[in-house]
Amino acid sequence: MNVIRVVVVGYGGMGSWHCDRIRSMEKFELAGVWDINPAKLKNAREDGIFTYGSFEEVLADESVRLLVIATWNDVHKPLCIEAMRHGKNVISEKPVSMSLSDLDETIAVAKETGRLFTVHQNRRWDDDYLTMKNIRDKNLLGKVFRIESRVQGSRGIPGDWRREKGHGGGMVLDWGVHLLDQALTMNDQNLLESVFAHVTHVTNDECDDGFYCELLFKDGLRYYVEVTTNNFITLPRWYILGENGSAVIEDWDLSGKMTLVHNWDKIDSVPVKAGTGITKTMAPRTDETIHDEPLELVRGKWEQYYDNIYDVLEHGAQQTVTWRQMRRCLKLIEAVFASAESGSVIRFDEDA
Ligand code: NAD
Repeated sequence: MNVIRVVVVGYGGMGSWHCDRIRSMEKFELAGVWDINPAKLKNAREDGIFTYGSFEEVLADESVRLLVIATWNDVHKPLCIEAMRHGKNVISEKPVSMSLSDLDETIAVAKETGRLFTVHQNRRWDDDYLTMKNIRDKNLLGKVFRIESRVQGSRGIPGDWRREKGHGGGMVLDWGVHLLDQALTMNDQNLLESVFAHVTHVTNDECDDGFYCELLFKDGLRYYVEVTTNNFITLPRWYILGENGSAVIEDWDLSGKMTLVHNWDKIDSVPVKAGTGITKTMAPRTDETIHDEPLELVRGKWEQYYDNIYDVLEHGAQQTVTWRQMRRCLKLIEAVFASAESGSVIRFDEDA
């Protein structure tokens, strides 16, 4: 088995995470790291990792086939392009670029050089996402007409480069890119028709510190995405509504349930008191018409991401996170900003 030597560029939170993972995999060997911050290089050496003296030194090391770019968002594009021009294959951290036109330039270089170029959309392997996707794929609730996907924090936007526009800060480009990529991957062949979004600036003026977004897909599915950072009471991570049932995943611990209707037509109810009035419409279902079921948990195997990278490089396999998907996600991010800016619904052009 050929072992692929890798350099991680950027030894911050995510760069050191990649280093740990690469060091645990047989198919890959961590050749070293490069970071513009000498303190980060010192950290790497203390962690027993070889450090390069410059990016040029990394590029000149012919034993290295793969670079993982785990820097601030604004330099993903130039580093990926430079790396490919020097014969290296690259994985970029997300977001792969700051704009669709930047991504197209980078893809053009990948085509020209024949190098691997992809992005680390690791949250396609998250258990909560796969559990929700499975409910829809297996039709466990009947036809699904609404999905709500939320992450909510209470500490505002982080105090680092994520507050700065110049470095590609903001929550749309941070958590948003994960949740939007999940929405699109879950609907890979279901055309996205429109986008309506609102971005928030509760804790930071320069960059958005969250957003609310409604996606409408061709089959009628309405998919709501929310990333917010000033919530002291949180709502469930996932909420999904189908014609014959509802499901909830409360948190990363996968607590939750499905509630299924087994006697839909038995809708007689006794009016219940509601505020200053009464209601039959909103009265809860009786136990003889609904029942709860545990979630069918699906465990993600994130290692498949790097396995695929190996197979692309060694056996010519197709990359799992494709250029079409990367373009679709960045187009959606641009539509989110355009909708927020104009206060209007944006028609999504799948062919652009
Ligand atoms: P960080 O600030 O902890 O680390 C970034 C590092 O990049 C810093 O050490 C900085 O000095 C270095 N750097 C900046 N420009 C550089 C350059 N030109 N050359 C070399 N090094 C450079 O940030 P982080 O939280 O590790 O985020 C890094 C990237 O990882 C971001 O793109 C972020 O969106 C992504 N990320 C992904 C996930 C995920 O789950 N996929 C999670 C967190 C962060």
